[in-house]
Formats: sequence, C-alpha cells, structure tokens
Amino acid sequence: MIHYKTKEEIELLRLSSLLVGRTLAIVAREIKPGITTAAIDKVAETFIMDNGGKPAFKGYRGFPGTLCVSPNSQIVHGIPGKYVLQDGDIISVDCGVLMNGFYGDSAFTFPVGNVKPEILKLLRVTKESLYKGIEKAIAGGRLGDISEAVQFHAESNGFSIVRELVGHGVGKSLHEDPEVPNYGRKGSGPKLAEGLVIAIEPMVNMGKRNVRQERDGWTITTADGLPSAHFEHTIAVGKESADILSSFVEIEQILEEQSR
Ligand code: MG
Ligand code: MG
Repeated sequence: MIHYKTKEEIELLRLSSLLVGRTLAIVAREIKPGITTAAIDKVAETFIMDNGGKPAFKGYRGFPGTLCVSPNSQIVHGIPGKYVLQDGDIISVDCGVLMNGFYGDSAFTFPVGNVKPEILKLLRVTKESLYKGIEKAIAGGRLGDISEAVQFHAESNGFSIVRELVGHGVGKSLHEDPEVPNYGRKGSGPKLAEGLVIAIEPMVNMGKRNVRQERDGWTITTADGLPSAHFEHTIAVGKESADILSSFVEIEQILEEQSR
C-alpha cells in the first residue's frame, strides 16, 4: 500500500533528507587515499547524532554501519571496515537518517584521487540517469516513465542496469511501497500523484548487469568484477516538476574545490 504524504510530512522528509545530504558532504571531505571505510563511517555517525538524527541503517536487519560503503566492483551494501581507499578507486556511499519520525535516503559515488576517464564517465552517466528519472516524476505519469528514462540513459551510453535492487517509497519506514525499478516500460506501473515520496537510485555497471552476493551476507558486487556506480535522491512527485528533498549541492561544491 502506498502512503501519500501531506505537505507538512514532506517538509519533515525534507529535513531528514537534507541531513543526509550534509552528512554526505562531510564524507566528501574525508574521502582520500589512505583512509579506511570504518573511519569515514565514524565521522558520518557522529555528525548525524550531533545534528539530532539517528543513523537509519545501523541495526537495520543487523547491518553494523551508519553508511553502506561500496568501493569499485561493490555495487551496494558494503560494510564499513578495514579497507583503505586507494588512488584511482571509486566508492559508493549510501546514507539514511531518521529524524522526527521520518526517513531520508541518498547516495553518491565519489572518485578517490585520480580516476580513469572511462570510470569517471560511469559516474557521470549514472548521476545523469538519476536526473533523467527525476524529470519524469510528475503527477499524472506512471512509475514506469521514471524506470524507462533511467534505463534508456544508462544503456544508450553502453552501461548496464542492475535489476535485483530497486528504489522505493520513503516515509515513516525506510522502505515503503512502491518499488522503483531502474528498468521498465513507460506508461506502465502505478500512477504518479502528488504526495508520493520515493527514493530513485540507479545502480549502473560498467560491464554486465549480473550481480553476486558476498559471503558477509550484505555486500552485493558485480559478477564480472568491473566497477559499479550508485546515485540516489529522495524526491516528492510534483505537479510540474519533482521536488528533490535530498541535495548534492554541498557535495559538488566540495568536489569542485578539491579538483582545483
Ligand atoms: Mg540509500
Ligand atoms: Mg534507498
């Protein structure tokens, strides 16, 4: 069942989602060769707690971290730990926050130091796919419009879409109906209406779309070992355009500063 949100509830979802965006910006400052994923996780946890939120993933079905940190061929759900970031890596960081009874959920894939141009293209195209999907999150459309837009952009750039994992509704639960696949046909699926709040989260592989579950019970990696990227926003379906509740603005400012 889909829970449609009131305007007041959407403002609470925005506060949670913006705290996720600010947390990912703090993470952006930490990411560099030599740091462990556990150290990044600690910084994020402290920042969320200091700002009145609760890490949403910690303890979720027993997940041990505040962040999901997934370098290189890891797609999602990587566990923070001893891994030391290397020059040329990419790392997907997924963050969720609970505040005032509502969740926020957003993810960004960061380059670490000097990353090969073809891998930077994977990051760019995955993020563009997310925004192509968001452009279709308009009342009166269908959920499949979002799915198709994401899939078309990723695949027409020569990449593949992970199908085993999907986006989702966001509200008083971290994962609500409807599921938001990153592949599909336009004109299909549930009708989009104001009050629908969803996380759109393309996971795009450089090689084949097939995935593998690692023995830790969490980490999902590419079956062919090639890199994968993941970008996610929590958004509210709008009348003329979607309202993006999370934000990459601060993250992108930091990346811009670092590249100068
Ligand atoms: Mg997420
Ligand atoms: Mg999500």
